[in-house]
Amino acid sequence: MRRFAGDRLLVATHNKGKLEEIAALLSPYGIHCISAAEMGLPEPAETETTFVGNARIKAHAAARATGLPALADDSGIEVDGLAGAPGVHTADWAETPHGRDFVLAMTRTWNELEKVRAPHPRTARFRATMVLAWPDGHDEVFEGKVEGQVVWPMRGRQGHGYDPMFEPAGHTITFAEMDAAHKNRISHRADAFGKLVACFDRT
Ligand code: IMP
Repeated sequence: MRRFAGDRLLVATHNKGKLEEIAALLSPYGIHCISAAEMGLPEPAETETTFVGNARIKAHAAARATGLPALADDSGIEVDGLAGAPGVHTADWAETPHGRDFVLAMTRTWNELEKVRAPHPRTARFRATMVLAWPDGHDEVFEGKVEGQVVWPMRGRQGHGYDPMFEPAGHTITFAEMDAAHKNRISHRADAFGKLVACFDRT
């Protein structure tokens, strides 16, 4: 596995919620993150059909554009009663002509489940694939997940995206009812990150 020895890492995301979580995960390792948005990088089209494919697109585009190693995360929620949807289309379900609307996306998710009359519990998981890419084209891939169920109505005001409708297994509160530090110990992103740290020279 190739090692990362720097103390500043480019994070190839324009998603503020993800960026905050990744910054909090990196900070105990003395690594400061710079975002693709801060560097003025465009958001590449996510044209692949898998989390790893899309994470690779984002990480390599940022690494090529800046000449720096770049970390990207592609993630989403898979609902079993919807045969794994929205999956790689998780962010797309929130798209509107005026930007992303996650209340709309969560409402759609619930309505589709009602239509198929999926049995309780409505099992689901968040997946995150992190790709660390270097400007020479090399990359390392780390995959994480957290099992749970989707609940309705939405609960909680913290977090981002679909957090208000996801209750992790073994808990009675949603991600949006959890404080950020708690979510960052058990989330799909934390699971992937736990594998990524093996790349850091500090470990
Ligand atoms: P992408 O990885 O940028 O394609 O988008 C992933 C989408 O999945 C985000 O826009 C969120 O809606 C959703 N998502 C990913 N991780 C989380 C999370 O930790 N909580 C809630 N929603 C998430």
